[in-house]
Amino acid sequence: MTDSIDVLDRDGRRCVNCDTALTADRDPDASVWDPGERHSGAEMVTVCADCAALLDGATPAWRDRLAGDPAAGGMGFLRTVTKTQGSVVADIAALATETTGGLDDDDGRREYRDGRRRSALGLAVVDRHLAAAGVDRSALDPLGTDPSADEYAVSEPVLADTDLDRATVEAFETVLNTATALQRQLRTVLGLVETAVSVEGRCHVCLESILGTEACPSCGTAVRDADQWRDDTGELDTAGLYRAITSHLETASETTTQLTDQAASLADRLAV
Ligand SMILES: [Zn+2]
Ligand SMILES: [Zn+2]
Repeated sequence: MTDSIDVLDRDGRRCVNCDTALTADRDPDASVWDPGERHSGAEMVTVCADCAALLDGATPAWRDRLAGDPAAGGMGFLRTVTKTQGSVVADIAALATETTGGLDDDDGRREYRDGRRRSALGLAVVDRHLAAAGVDRSALDPLGTDPSADEYAVSEPVLADTDLDRATVEAFETVLNTATALQRQLRTVLGLVETAVSVEGRCHVCLESILGTEACPSCGTAVRDADQWRDDTGELDTAGLYRAITSHLETASETTTQLTDQAASLADRLAV
């Protein structure tokens, strides 16, 4: 069990997503996001009131602005999502490098745990913004989508009812599609990185030893299934797993480049 105060101190009492300093009167328990609800410090992360509310289902500020000023609301969405997703891309790329290099020293292990927490938070935040922009929840559910699908349904196109021109609305939907695809690719890379940690005998969340257990004795996380990476004799194909990490990371990097271009052209349209 971890005290919320320990988590706040570790994170310097700043929101790990947006870097806002916590106000002194903020309730420590309400300032901690605990995705696994296992009350493990390895997973719990400091969030400000706005980010906590967003994760809890509150409507993002940009969405409220859409009715009065659709261009400003659209720009707000674009800025927030590209910034947050950009950080997740960098964090997951660093996690992949640290993991393939072996997590041998304390610094590397701390960076892995910090990076993994930031990535999980960033992915969850971007999910909330994409859902608020009309992306189908099933497309954001890591288990609910066909991995080969590259088009996702936008069930409620939030810009369609505004006075923005058709080409701008379409540019917005293109960004939504690509950002949703990138979420999925990033989750795939993160899952593979976690599997690589797991096959080395460590919990992919807290990095304690999990040898011979089904759930981490320290944080309670279920041990990742690596059967997919074993051959008929039970031998692990570690090289194949690392190759998959590299190849999926390349795909995510190409998608990031594509998204950057699409976001720039949407920003141009919204600015005029
Ligand atoms: Zn925040
Ligand atoms: Zn653990």
